Amino acid sequence: MIHNIKRIWQRPLQMKWGRHDCPVCDGKLKKIKVSEVVNSGSEEAKDYDFSMAGGAGYMTGNVKFVWTEYECMKCGKQFSADEVYQAEKHTAKQKNHKK
Ligand SMILES: [Zn+2]
Repeated sequence: MIHNIKRIWQRPLQMKWGRHDCPVCDGKLKKIKVSEVVNSGSEEAKDYDFSMAGGAGYMTGNVKFVWTEYECMKCGKQFSADEVYQAEKHTAKQKNHKK
C-alpha cells in the first residue's frame, strides 16, 4: 500500500532546455520516469527526503518517489539528471578551454 507520492525534481532549470547527449557515446538521451517505493522506517529511508512541500512535516509509511532519469537511445545506459548535468558542465568547460 502506498501512503504518499513525492515527485523529485533534479536540476529542473538546467535540464529543461535543449537536447541532452549521452556522456558516454554522444547518443541522444530520452527522458524516462523512474519510481521507487520506500518505507519511512526502512534502511534506505536515509537516502530519501521525506519532508513535505512547504515544510509541513514529514511523510511516513510507504512513500512512492517519482523522478526523471535519462536513457541513451544508442547504448541504453541510464543517467540521473545530475549525472547528465555534471557531464555537460564538464564538456562546456572543455569547449571553452579550446577557444
Ligand atoms: Zn550512449
